[in-house]
Amino acid sequence: MKEGSYSWSTQSFSSFDSTVVLVDTDEGITGVGESCPLGPSYLAAYAEGVRTGVSILAPGLIGEDPTHLDSINLKMDELLKGHPYVKSAIDMACWDILGKATGLPAYQLLGGKLQEQVTLFKVVPRADPKLMADRFVEYREQGFDHFQIKVGENPDTDIERFRQILDVMQPGDVVDADANTGWKQHEALRVVGAVQQMFQEQQLSCFIEQPCLSYEECFAVRQHTDLPFILDECMDGLAVLLRGFQDNAMDLINLKINRMGGLTRARQVRDLCVHLGIVMTIEDSWGGEIATSAIAHLAQSTPPAFHFQSSAFHEYASRAIAEGGPEMGRGYMAAPSAPGLGVEPLMDVLGPLVCEIR
Ligand code: MG
Repeated sequence: MKEGSYSWSTQSFSSFDSTVVLVDTDEGITGVGESCPLGPSYLAAYAEGVRTGVSILAPGLIGEDPTHLDSINLKMDELLKGHPYVKSAIDMACWDILGKATGLPAYQLLGGKLQEQVTLFKVVPRADPKLMADRFVEYREQGFDHFQIKVGENPDTDIERFRQILDVMQPGDVVDADANTGWKQHEALRVVGAVQQMFQEQQLSCFIEQPCLSYEECFAVRQHTDLPFILDECMDGLAVLLRGFQDNAMDLINLKINRMGGLTRARQVRDLCVHLGIVMTIEDSWGGEIATSAIAHLAQSTPPAFHFQSSAFHEYASRAIAEGGPEMGRGYMAAPSAPGLGVEPLMDVLGPLVCEIR
């Protein structure tokens, strides 16, 4: 991590282990995909699991047509139950192949370029409250106006974090407080109640993201606040999305590509959200230039009114793993216009193949 570490809720990491998958075809096209769990204790996903899972799936996929995305996804589900984060890297590589085979950028295949650029948010990692406020100001100077502040640790310290952020907030700043499941229900009710009062007094607002672990706990908190509400970790498929829609359990969701199993399934969720009127943060659990490019393509093919924000993960890393990633602006990014995902992995940085299946 460029800043030394990345902390949220009660967790902290200084680096993340990512897996890059290359899929070669008999027509000479190679597709590239990436899956990077946010450490082993964020979701039910871990880096070594990506590699083990890919080695289980790959032999059963050899000989299949990678441009038949639905068929590839059905086959992967036959070969391995669950483990969407494993399938995501392969699915992403197949979209890259489809783009290269047709000469089209992925955003065009995912619905067309509906936005010229993608609004980014900058994460203010969990730290000492004053340091978080200093970083908030620093990031605004870098051009960001969407911020995700990491809370979900100790309720009293978290309330102080909100207080310090509120002190430096300006009209126009969009603040999303992400507890990453860190609060118990009673703690979340206390913090969210205090925050709502604090922000309303200043005539400002703040989004609350995934306060507790379960859907049910989050829903209980949602029923006690007027603050706009985002569900992330518990939104792991269409069934819970529909439940959340019926219950009015959220205003927005956070759509992560590898939690859905790749671009194919993430697009299904994205399209349903657009039909239901649910706005989305579009991102992945983590990654480098490859996963970030996939995010940019999915976000750019989403109607702007339904796209809240995205993240450019490679900007947080001290090392690049691919060339040709999204073009970066002040608080924005744009997907490459080259065919497919438009990225070229840096094999000398990635090192020798971990595993080769033919
Ligand atoms: Mg989140």
